[in-house]
Amino acid sequence: MKHITAHSNTITQVKVPLPFPLRWVNSYLVQGSAGYTLIDPGLHTAEAEELWHSALKECGVAFEHIEQIVLTHHHPDHYGMAGWFQERTGAPVLLSETGLLQTQLLWGGEQPMTALLLDLFARHGMDAAGLATMAKHMDGFVAFVSPQPQVTLLREGPVRLGDRAYAAIETPGHAAGHLCFYDAEAETIFCGDHVLPQISPNVSFLPQVEANPLGAYLSSLQDISRLPVKLAYPGHREPWTAFGARAAELIQHHEERLGIMENQLKAKPLTAYEVCLATFGERLSTHQMRFALSETIAHLVLLEVEGRIRQTDQDAEIIRYLAT
Ligand SMILES: [Zn+2]
Ligand SMILES: [Zn+2]
Repeated sequence: MKHITAHSNTITQVKVPLPFPLRWVNSYLVQGSAGYTLIDPGLHTAEAEELWHSALKECGVAFEHIEQIVLTHHHPDHYGMAGWFQERTGAPVLLSETGLLQTQLLWGGEQPMTALLLDLFARHGMDAAGLATMAKHMDGFVAFVSPQPQVTLLREGPVRLGDRAYAAIETPGHAAGHLCFYDAEAETIFCGDHVLPQISPNVSFLPQVEANPLGAYLSSLQDISRLPVKLAYPGHREPWTAFGARAAELIQHHEERLGIMENQLKAKPLTAYEVCLATFGERLSTHQMRFALSETIAHLVLLEVEGRIRQTDQDAEIIRYLAT
């Protein structure tokens, strides 16, 4: 696989390897007169370190040429190497406030998100064996994001990447606090994982983060699909041109899935875990199960908000839903 692709005089795509089926995450180097902006440096692994040493050499970029590290969102495959780069460059790491909050919930101190997520999954019907495996899986991620960076908060609004003016646009859903960076003059966008070609970005419900993530996702997709975009630079796969059409396709995909889940709940009450197995199948890895179940919950939450399903017993220890 070719790891480095120059897309313009100033924008270079670097494919950073991932030990997941996604295979790689796209990092972008944006050249400017004051140095390089590094977008989403990748998951921290030995392979990624090796890749970066050779990629920087090939691009003729020294660590001290990197002036800032900018993150579309806090997920480990994007944020993981930010601290490693900060140690070597001294550059600020820019992330949204909601993103920073989630890094603290997920990988700070006692990792409070682990207990919150296990509790959520238990209430939505996951069995004890599944929960025990999930607990180990959650703990395994800290190494992939260490050392963790000192974060400078990045807000919605104007931001300079290289020498060009971009608008940081908050696009929640795949991740709360996710930012896309839009160059209105060139009509290009760094869209992180908000809109991906070929892949449907995961939309997870996470405790204490966002009450209705799928609702937020669909409305931010609507908004962003209206922007004129000639070329979109995604977090995974290759840069592509049909950005608005892809956003519309993703809206359609979730509307279909909402209908499928609503139908499953017409015959008898089911837990989110049962809906998840019926929708995504039983043969999921722990990693896949985590995202499949969180995604199922996100769909059921939206169906409940829309009044299409309801919880059969508000006081029950285990939540079951039924179509209304
Ligand atoms: Zn992501
Ligand atoms: Zn990603």
